Amino acid sequence: MKILIVEDEPKTGTYLVQGLTEAGFVADLARSGCDGLHLGLTGDYDLAILDVMLPGMDGWQVLKALRATGRTLPVLLLTARDAVEDRVQGLESGADDYLVKPFAFAELLARVRSLLRRVHRQPAPEVLRAGDLELDPIRRRVTRGGRRIDLTAKEFALLELFLRRRGEVLPRALIASQVWDMNFDSDTNVIDVAVKRLRAKIDEGFEPKLIRTVRGMGYVLDA
Ligand code: CA
Repeated sequence: MKILIVEDEPKTGTYLVQGLTEAGFVADLARSGCDGLHLGLTGDYDLAILDVMLPGMDGWQVLKALRATGRTLPVLLLTARDAVEDRVQGLESGADDYLVKPFAFAELLARVRSLLRRVHRQPAPEVLRAGDLELDPIRRRVTRGGRRIDLTAKEFALLELFLRRRGEVLPRALIASQVWDMNFDSDTNVIDVAVKRLRAKIDEGFEPKLIRTVRGMGYVLDA
């Protein structure tokens, strides 16, 4: 795990690098906001510890610039002032946590570990879409044009497969192995029946139709 530390006070910086290295992290230290931002944009960090009070570009500006360029890594702010507006500003600017100076190293380490756990356990929920159809794999919800559609577990799995491989013609054998965990037997019409039911739910009464039959090959979903 690689951590970026942006801290201008030499003592604190060195202390953080040492402590985090002993705790098993790879830690890089930048002594100004500018250098910190440069490292943050070019390096592949799992987390950043940002001091708020920095000469030139301060911690807020570094944080805003990181978020503005789509960097989602967790950020722990170090603030010298225990002011309410600092915390509010910190969280509104996209910080994930903050710590008031002076702090005990054990406390910082606990926050760092907790932030990393949070990030690695909860990947950003990814909603799958095709036109106005949306499937949320985490919340187990499907809507089309904003209208909720109730699907059985198999229909949900089938639609998820179609959406993850959008635009690809899916042979029945592939659908059978992915959704039913079975070998496809051409005598069975399980898949055709399931696709028909799914189409009735997501395509009937809507335009355009999303699922098409590709004769002799299988099915495809595309908007
Ligand atoms: Ca400082």
